[in-house]
Amino acid sequence: MTTATPATASSATVLAEAERRRTFAVISHPDAGKSTMTEALALHAKVISEAGAVHGKAGRRGVVSDWMEMEKARGISITSAALQFSYRDCVINLLDTPGHADFSEDTYRVLSAVDCAVMLLDAAKGLEPQTLKLFDVCRYRGIPVITFINKWDRPGRDALDLCDELVERIGLQPMPLTWPVGDAGHFRGVLDRRSGGFVRYQRTAGGATVAGEEHLPPGQAEAEEGVEWTRACEEAELLGASGGGFELGRFLEATATPVLFGSAVLNFGVRQLLDLLVEIAPRPTARADAAGNPRELDAPFSAFVFKVQTGMDRAHRDQVAFARVCSGVFERGMVVTNAATGKPFATKYVQQVFGQQRSTLDTAFPGDVIGLVNATALGVGDTLHAGKPVVRFPGLPSFAPAYFAVARPADLSRSKQFRKGIEQLESEGVVQVLRSLRRGDGAPVFAAVGPMQFEVAAHRLEAEFKSPVRLEPLPYTVVRRLADPKQRSIVDSGRSEVLTRTDGVDLALFVDSTALGVMRRLHPEVRLEPLVAGTDD
Ligand code: GDP
Repeated sequence: MTTATPATASSATVLAEAERRRTFAVISHPDAGKSTMTEALALHAKVISEAGAVHGKAGRRGVVSDWMEMEKARGISITSAALQFSYRDCVINLLDTPGHADFSEDTYRVLSAVDCAVMLLDAAKGLEPQTLKLFDVCRYRGIPVITFINKWDRPGRDALDLCDELVERIGLQPMPLTWPVGDAGHFRGVLDRRSGGFVRYQRTAGGATVAGEEHLPPGQAEAEEGVEWTRACEEAELLGASGGGFELGRFLEATATPVLFGSAVLNFGVRQLLDLLVEIAPRPTARADAAGNPRELDAPFSAFVFKVQTGMDRAHRDQVAFARVCSGVFERGMVVTNAATGKPFATKYVQQVFGQQRSTLDTAFPGDVIGLVNATALGVGDTLHAGKPVVRFPGLPSFAPAYFAVARPADLSRSKQFRKGIEQLESEGVVQVLRSLRRGDGAPVFAAVGPMQFEVAAHRLEAEFKSPVRLEPLPYTVVRRLADPKQRSIVDSGRSEVLTRTDGVDLALFVDSTALGVMRRLHPEVRLEPLVAGTDD
């Protein structure tokens, strides 16, 4: 960040800086083009001079973030951080979500730190399972969503059909702002539905540089593009008739989504996406603290930790806590209080991290993400603040796990390290830890949203705590919160079991939804509630 503002920045400065922030994440299914889109956005914002520099076109995934041996071996990105860049007069924070096929809670938690999401769809596939899961979290949190239909440069589905799918499957009204001109495979450009004009894209070699654009008035577009232009206009008219006009209010209340068409690999439509973010994405607003009182943007510095990551730098075993700034100004070197412990925390080392690229950060404003190095005392959901009084933001929601495994130390002489390791992994949110007195040996049960979380936990217990773990999978797949602890013995029998999470929540685990159904029929009095709305099956 370049702005050199003193820590005593006036309230006007903080408000003006917050107003310039756009903080978002891309939600998509693997292979929809998230990495390519990230590159394309960075290219437009001139962070990089040629696409491929952020991730590397060939073997891209290994380069994004290979902080763990495992990541390298699997060729996936498990970690997530933030990319910050300036565009027009705005500062854009793009928070990275892990892109592998297995879900982890990290992916969900990132969404607690954004103000907007870009839903990236593959034109040939439309809504895919992981997109749907992430969309559910956005809906639950009321996050407005911009839809980008990607890969229009190759044969895919019909544009109207893709729009219909949004309404039919997720009840989200599409508001296309552009409409593709030219068949999939012969993508020429887009009809700008607001101006009525034609934006024609020029291809660049391998999409490596920003695609040139020509803006043509409708008459000229018709003369030059003929039937392709007329067809786009006709389709767009059909949309108009069914009420596809843009309404900012409906976008902000997350009942409708502006839709753009493009091709990340050719950099088509990427500028429109950035412009749209600048124009309509919500700015940071006062975040409610745990008591429900809004923490005004210009109050003293406050932030919450949404992600903790260990071992990014192989030379030093470090831990970085990523926090989103909620109010005030953050200055490197400032001493802040960890609301959970009341202890001061010196912030000498603060970084912006994206993949393996780090740069030292000096100042941050609401909406920005700071990476606090050596933050061993910080856990996911912790609040940091400057000055008094203490402010505490609500903890991050835990998501409904779908995978469970009993964890036992493989080497009993390392039991102490094993316990320590589990405590650490739990505080970082790598896995949820459940216990039950009814389990004979008191062995903890790991619970995760995706099986990858188990692999990460096992790898770290062995590598960092020298305590290898034996994991025994449990057959449960469906979980509900048991609201009344007195009803425990009814559920805790036969095909279901009750385990208690460290935060005190009782989880009722069922083998499948049939088992849950049977329980409900036999014992309608048992209060079984969804863990987090929208993320349960
Ligand atoms: P991610 O898994 O969502 O990060 O997807 P990637 O960005 O790695 O892209 C997956 C594949 O789709 C890669 O082979 C990309 O080159 C390709 N791809 C991404 N965007 C486009 C696009 O706009 N058009 C075409 N034809 N291919 C694309």
